[in-house]
Amino acid sequence: MNHTIPLATEKIVKAEQATKIAVAHGDGIGPEIMKATLKILLSAGAKIEVEPIELGEQVYLSGNSSGITEQAWNTISENKIILKAPITTPQGKGYKSLNVTLRKTLGLFANVRPVSALSPFVKTNFPTMDIVVIRENEEDLYAGIEHRQTEDVVQCLKLISRPGSEKIVRYAFEYAKAYNRKKVTCMVKDNIMKLTDGLFHNVFKEIALEYPEIESNSQIIDIGSAKVANSPENFDVIVTSNLYGDIISDIVAEIAGSVGMAGSANIGRNVAMFEAIHGSAPDIAGQKIANPSGLLNAAIMMLAHIGQAKIADKIKNAWLATLEDGIHTADVYQESISTKKVNTDEFADEIIERL
Ligand code: NAD
Repeated sequence: MNHTIPLATEKIVKAEQATKIAVAHGDGIGPEIMKATLKILLSAGAKIEVEPIELGEQVYLSGNSSGITEQAWNTISENKIILKAPITTPQGKGYKSLNVTLRKTLGLFANVRPVSALSPFVKTNFPTMDIVVIRENEEDLYAGIEHRQTEDVVQCLKLISRPGSEKIVRYAFEYAKAYNRKKVTCMVKDNIMKLTDGLFHNVFKEIALEYPEIESNSQIIDIGSAKVANSPENFDVIVTSNLYGDIISDIVAEIAGSVGMAGSANIGRNVAMFEAIHGSAPDIAGQKIANPSGLLNAAIMMLAHIGQAKIADKIKNAWLATLEDGIHTADVYQESISTKKVNTDEFADEIIERL
């Protein structure tokens, strides 16, 4: 298994014990992909005890403007491990993003998003790409400092700190070291944002000196993103700030086959949260056609994180075998390579058959 997480949270879990997991079923396609994912995990013998938590749209609509219940906070602080399906956040208006609140409140500073091509079984123009995006998760324009100056002028402040930059850059190099990755690329825009992106870049250059065995380089985010989209095989680990990391990881996942395939880990010192990189996909919600692979890959990372790497490997292999047999959900289905188009539940059942 290639992509487990090197820095464990402080919670130490013995593999024999069932680990209590706080599980959020999410909005849109969330409940559909969570149901499929849990079915696969439990069929594979994952030693987990699912404790559902309520957060997202239904909680907002019930009048709780935080979008998360007290019970959910209590369960999270007890269990310290969260498996979360995507939730809906309205665009340009309405309540604050609960995803941002969770990451900030729980100190989930590192967002790890591995993506590799599965060619020829999933169509991509980049059969050898294998990238891990390590995104800073608490600062930048997502710090939530946004306000109205006048009727016609609004402002969002970009927050970058030295401790925050050091934590994420060091994490990226430690990750590269632990997983025998050869290169770490920093992406910033410090030709324009000289102080904020300049600080991130300076920290990168300082910390890179401590890891002479790992190649390091930097790219300006605009041309860097274009190069990722055109020749992703030239990238290995990418470390970047919050907004750039959000955008670039969607690009990376999409060009590898589908944004529906990639999972992510949000790592903090005490808590870790695992989720797909994509959103609640309201355009296909309720149709039961969503690809559960992103959430499943997040769950595989979670199992490795809590000391159940063997079960994680078993699930990953069954998932790969299913894709190799051409059994594909609509987002990756291609007449030339697929043998069967399946819905969310059928895809889960095909994986279970191959466990
Ligand atoms: P999205 O990722 O939900 O969807 C983008 C496109 O990808 C859509 O066409 C969708 O159908 C497709 N897609 C996404 N996941 C898929 C899957 N598993 N299988 C097949 N196709 C899939 O992005 P969006 O439409 O911009 O956002 C929808 C909502 O999700 C918004 O409210 C947004 O705020 C929220 N969101 C939540 C999270 C999260 O909870 N972590 C992350 C991103 C976006």
